[in-house]
Amino acid sequence: MINIVLFGPPGSGKGTQAENLISKFNLKQISTGDLFRFNMKNDTPLGILAKSYIDKGELVPDKVTTDMLIDELKKPCDCDGYIFDGYPRTSFQTECLDKIVKEELKSEISICLSLIVEDRILVERLINRGKSSGRKDDSEVSIITNRISEYYKKTAEVAELYKEQGKYVEINGVGEIAEISQKLFAEVEKIK
Ligand code: AMP
Repeated sequence: MINIVLFGPPGSGKGTQAENLISKFNLKQISTGDLFRFNMKNDTPLGILAKSYIDKGELVPDKVTTDMLIDELKKPCDCDGYIFDGYPRTSFQTECLDKIVKEELKSEISICLSLIVEDRILVERLINRGKSSGRKDDSEVSIITNRISEYYKKTAEVAELYKEQGKYVEINGVGEIAEISQKLFAEVEKIK
């Protein structure tokens, strides 16, 4: 089983690259952001709660997010592993994920692939995405910069934890999509 944590600030191309990794290695993507958006669209109690944080560019509380992730992992899946996109974002979540993967999948996190993109390009990409998707958290520069700074404040520690485990690999996230995918594939092949 290959379990990948796909890591990177908002707008770094995690979603696009996850799609390519999924088809290459028969993985299932679990994106906590997508799960929240699904719940918000359907006005579920979880969605209403999450919206109050997401619209401000803040992180949803760890417990709420982690319970949602566990529910998702309990669903049967005919796949060879998972891509975690958007989770973990804190050191608490990193420890939770280790435990959850062990308990639910009898497996472990194989690698953390981190896409590196400079802030100026992230803001540009997110504003463009907001124009076509209508996502509120992608439409205002102040909300975007808040999300990016939340990422650096809270999630830098996640990278440290994976570095300590020798599982952290940085990939340049600027360039042709296919070229970036090839670099990611090569890293996964190394640990297969
Ligand atoms: P994303 O699509 O991954 O950028 O997530 C969109 C928003 O959902 C984030 O800005 C957070 O408000 C919330 N979110 C997604 N994943 C998490 C997480 N692991 N922990 C807390 N909040 C999250």
